[in-house]
Amino acid sequence: MNVEDLPPLREALEAHGLWAKKSFGQHFLLDLNVTRKIARLAHVGEGDHVIEVGPGPGGLTRALLETGARVTTIEMDERFAPLLQEVADIAPNLTLVFGDALKADEAEIAAGQPAHVVSNLPYNVGTPLLIKWLTGPWTPRSLTLMFQREVADRITEGPGEDAYGRLAVIVQATCKAQRVMDAPARAFTPPPKVDSAVVHLTPLAERPSRERLDALQKITAAAFGQRRKMLRSSLKLMGGEELILAAGIDPQVRAEVVPVDGFLALADAWMARR
Ligand code: SAM
Repeated sequence: MNVEDLPPLREALEAHGLWAKKSFGQHFLLDLNVTRKIARLAHVGEGDHVIEVGPGPGGLTRALLETGARVTTIEMDERFAPLLQEVADIAPNLTLVFGDALKADEAEIAAGQPAHVVSNLPYNVGTPLLIKWLTGPWTPRSLTLMFQREVADRITEGPGEDAYGRLAVIVQATCKAQRVMDAPARAFTPPPKVDSAVVHLTPLAERPSRERLDALQKITAAAFGQRRKMLRSSLKLMGGEELILAAGIDPQVRAEVVPVDGFLALADAWMARR
């Protein structure tokens, strides 16, 4: 497929009378240099299947198709159907799906084959989608995702850093996580109020079991629910000092300094007591 055969994204939007809707979290990337960079950072190409959530006008979709990958898009806003169909008409590697990505069955879309997720995520559903991909029944081969910068920090920061919390623990217990690109608000049309960043996540070969992840979610909810308190106080109802010592952790420390392995040990100790 040749992107040069398509009208520039701004023209395509105008021709279809389309504009960004706030309720769908729409902030578009209309600069192909930016979308090509994201496609490069995703490390996808010929032979790969990419699931892209929220193609909107299709800037990132075009860049992904240029890599030679097969792309399936999931878009909730059906206003984009005619515009995206124009791309699909010249790109046999593109499949369009319309609906809510939170409810999508990725295993069915991927048809039993491995698939990568790449998306400039809608800010209002970005975190629930990430949790779905990391803890749900279907696991992507990799995820390359644009988030608000503050959310990217909450994903990638480590113990002792300001944004380290529940999300970082769940993500880093299941994935290798790297922040790979910063995107200022002015890169988007219309510009959002805050800057963004791209994170690249590679699910670990040895991922915690469903049961262990459930326990981890409960432990981190209690521990970070009162992040300024010592663990022996925030985890009182889950087993207090006895549980914390069984996990080999000092009960006087606060959640914000406990590494991911420490939380996994707490989850194991909690499961062993039940
Ligand atoms: N990928 C485009 C780009 O980079 O220009 C658009 C990105 S925009 C931040 C987010 C897109 O996700 C919008 O097209 C929006 O309609 C779509 N969207 C919002 N919520 C969604 C959901 N629950 N499921 C699927 N798509 C959704």
